[in-house]
Amino acid sequence: MANLARIDLDAIRHNLDAVRAAAPAAQVLAVVKADAYGHGMVPVARTAREHGVQWLGVATLAEARALREAGDSGRLLAWLWAPGDPDLDACLALDVDISVSSIDSLHEVLARAGHLGIRPRLHLKIDTGLARNGAAPQDWPLLVAEARAAEQRGAADVVGVWSHLANADQPGHASVDAQQRQFDAALAVADDAGLVLEVRHLANSPAAFAHPGTHHDLVRTGIAIYGVTPLATARAEDLGLRAAMTFTGTLALVKTIPAGTSVSYGSTWTAPAHTRVGLLPLGYADGLPRIAGNRASVLVRGVRCPVVGRIAMDQCIVVLDDVHGQVRAGEEAIVFGDASTGAPTADDWGDWSETIGYEIVTRLGQRVPRAYSGER
Ligand SMILES: *Cc1c(COP(=O)(O)O)cnc(C)c1O
Repeated sequence: MANLARIDLDAIRHNLDAVRAAAPAAQVLAVVKADAYGHGMVPVARTAREHGVQWLGVATLAEARALREAGDSGRLLAWLWAPGDPDLDACLALDVDISVSSIDSLHEVLARAGHLGIRPRLHLKIDTGLARNGAAPQDWPLLVAEARAAEQRGAADVVGVWSHLANADQPGHASVDAQQRQFDAALAVADDAGLVLEVRHLANSPAAFAHPGTHHDLVRTGIAIYGVTPLATARAEDLGLRAAMTFTGTLALVKTIPAGTSVSYGSTWTAPAHTRVGLLPLGYADGLPRIAGNRASVLVRGVRCPVVGRIAMDQCIVVLDDVHGQVRAGEEAIVFGDASTGAPTADDWGDWSETIGYEIVTRLGQRVPRAYSGER
């Protein structure tokens, strides 16, 4: 046995179905950026395609290129790139839909595509209030007009208009309606300019579940398909989601320490009595946040065991006193997994680490091997 992240592709299928049930009128775009939030981009993408997903999305052009080079050939949108991105030519040649947020980026895509003799498919992005990527509303009419002109001369196809929400994880947040109104105004400008769009898209996973008015033609869903909660107000299981990743470690050493023994760097925890402890050979290099020491727990033989002392780069200590029988080195500890097993979830680790489940699964260390079940 060894440290391992097991990815259940059946859970991904199940979660895709849950998103479809929540957003029945829209298509699904499965977001597989950041190595599918730590789950492995290629196997997740393949599973989504097999499960009928027409659209995949990634942030960077390098991710889109890698997916194409792994054999993916369906609709694929990439939305984050800077001037001079070395993967732009490749993505244009590989039939990737490209997002454009400014006149300059429109000109750059058109120039590169013209050079290659390619007519790119573009999604114009409007900033409706997140103030991150996307054209500012005052720049939108000009961007739309130039994109439409390019389309009329056969230099591009504008297939999408889209935006991204700031507070969709909070049901009822007033900014969602405000962004929705801004988005509608942007769509009206596109319509007036003569753009005939294939897809309008605004919703992410939280909006898929909590804001039906944002669904439009496509919901871009990332975290939900991994079975981590998208909402600040609900647990994954309440939304019918199943954790796709189970992260386990093998106890490397079990021993008893006497009362008064302090554990790990900084001596932040001291054994109040004779204590049976296990050494878990996982640390912040593997994705366990250092801040979760003295807060987190893991599951050994079905019993929650607290993580005591600092989490170091490679190892941490768990208290085994509450486990029945004599736990031995070589036994498994579940760091996180599906709530139904009694294990902590990635969302629990998020709470313990002052972050969100997204960051926990995405930051899983490179040296943790991934193994897949549910392959077809
Ligand atoms: C990451 C991302 C998503 C997916 O968000 P989830 O909350 O994981 O569903 C959707 N849209 C954009 C623009 C993103 O960057």
